[in-house]
Amino acid sequence: MERREKGGWESVLDSERTLIPGAEWDSELHRIAVSQFDRSADLVGLEPEIRTQLSRPRRALVVNLPIHRDDGELVTFTGYRVQHVLTMGPMKGGIRFAPAVSLGECAALALWMTFKCALLGLPFGGAKGGVRCDPNRLSGQEMERIMRRYATEIFPLIGPDRDIPAPDMATGEREMAWFMDTYSQQVGHPVPEIVTGKPVVLGGTAGRDSATGLGVVFCIEDVLRERGEAVEGKRVVIQGIGKVGGVVARELAARGARIVAISDVSSGLHEPGGIDLERVFEWVAEHRFLRGCPAGDATPRETILEIPCDILVPAALERQITGENAPRLDCGIVFEAANGPTTPEADRVLEQRGIDVIPDVLVNAGGVTVSYFEWVQDQQKYAWSRDEVTERLRHQMSQALGRVVEGRERYESDWRGAAQAVAIERVAEAARLRTVYP
Ligand code: NAD
Repeated sequence: MERREKGGWESVLDSERTLIPGAEWDSELHRIAVSQFDRSADLVGLEPEIRTQLSRPRRALVVNLPIHRDDGELVTFTGYRVQHVLTMGPMKGGIRFAPAVSLGECAALALWMTFKCALLGLPFGGAKGGVRCDPNRLSGQEMERIMRRYATEIFPLIGPDRDIPAPDMATGEREMAWFMDTYSQQVGHPVPEIVTGKPVVLGGTAGRDSATGLGVVFCIEDVLRERGEAVEGKRVVIQGIGKVGGVVARELAARGARIVAISDVSSGLHEPGGIDLERVFEWVAEHRFLRGCPAGDATPRETILEIPCDILVPAALERQITGENAPRLDCGIVFEAANGPTTPEADRVLEQRGIDVIPDVLVNAGGVTVSYFEWVQDQQKYAWSRDEVTERLRHQMSQALGRVVEGRERYESDWRGAAQAVAIERVAEAARLRTVYP
């Protein structure tokens, strides 16, 4: 174990050069996910057999994706699909296009998906997939070739009752339409329920585009209400203004919050009086990135998290709040819109400093919740209205928050420990009832 902590392939081979069980999934992010899981498994007194099962994915597929670039060059990308738990129903999880995608990263994200679905009471196990690439350097046609090839290659593992992908970093409606079309061509008829996050005209649901961000905002409102506070007048910093962070910014501003700083991969933007978001979105629509936007002072994206605020929303990527920068955070509370943005060292620092961290498995669960609604509508061939979707989302989010609040008392734990403990209880109960299979 001592060598494992140092990371890397060498570190996971013992002296006989045999692989330590579970070493295939090793990555910094998976170690973080497992350490969080272990902490909550201790709280619920989870038996060792189920603990071992849940600390690793059940299965994974690694695929090579040869595609032609626009200039005719043939290049090969690597893609992954990881399924964490088969006990709860079909698997559910996003597809990301990002430079850091790896088996170990997908394993961590799949594990969090299992607990997110369990916490929200959704009938899914967790999955995750993606392609290692830099989406900022790909044309639309290249993205299409990669996504279609990826859908073809992971075909043996997926299906509307087996594993239903969804969007994640750098993928959205357009990519889900390509995915659905490729799968449908393979089976010979339209299968909208193979993927969620599709355009509405192809069987997508009203409200999926804003679901994750809106769920984050419902969670913020509910947690503040528990503390006798309101969103209005709060200073907010948001890291990442993509599909999730963009909606959070708009919705919080509409409720009277002041968005004092935002960032994307290119730059940060700071305006203590409150950023004019419409100027930002117009700029980004035209220039793609935030860099150069005149709606505030340019700030290095690295220091955005340290800007004074009441509410900090990391909505970009994992491992952003670390043991190194946690002592300098100047916020009242953190809401994790991204998956895995806070390391365990940072959790400890923030706990000592009395800063609550409301965890990803609760905060960003609105996305998979509305994905579930989309899957249900596709199966029923009956579409709900946007208002119905929004009201059901609000209800599911506040029910889940209630479970976590109750779990905090029962386990005398922080937010993350309690949220994962409640989720683990549910998965473990199902695993005990089903015994060995699946
Ligand atoms: P996205 O690709 O639409 O947006 C990501 C944003 O982060 C972009 O603005 C990008 O420029 C920015 N970014 C990237 N690297 C950065 C860096 N180093 N510093 C600052 N900003 C950076 O992705 P998204 O769908 O909004 O996902 C964001 C996070 O939310 C991810 O962790 C994802 O797993 C999580 N999430 C997304 C969904 C969903 O429905 N899309 C659901 C649940 C969780």
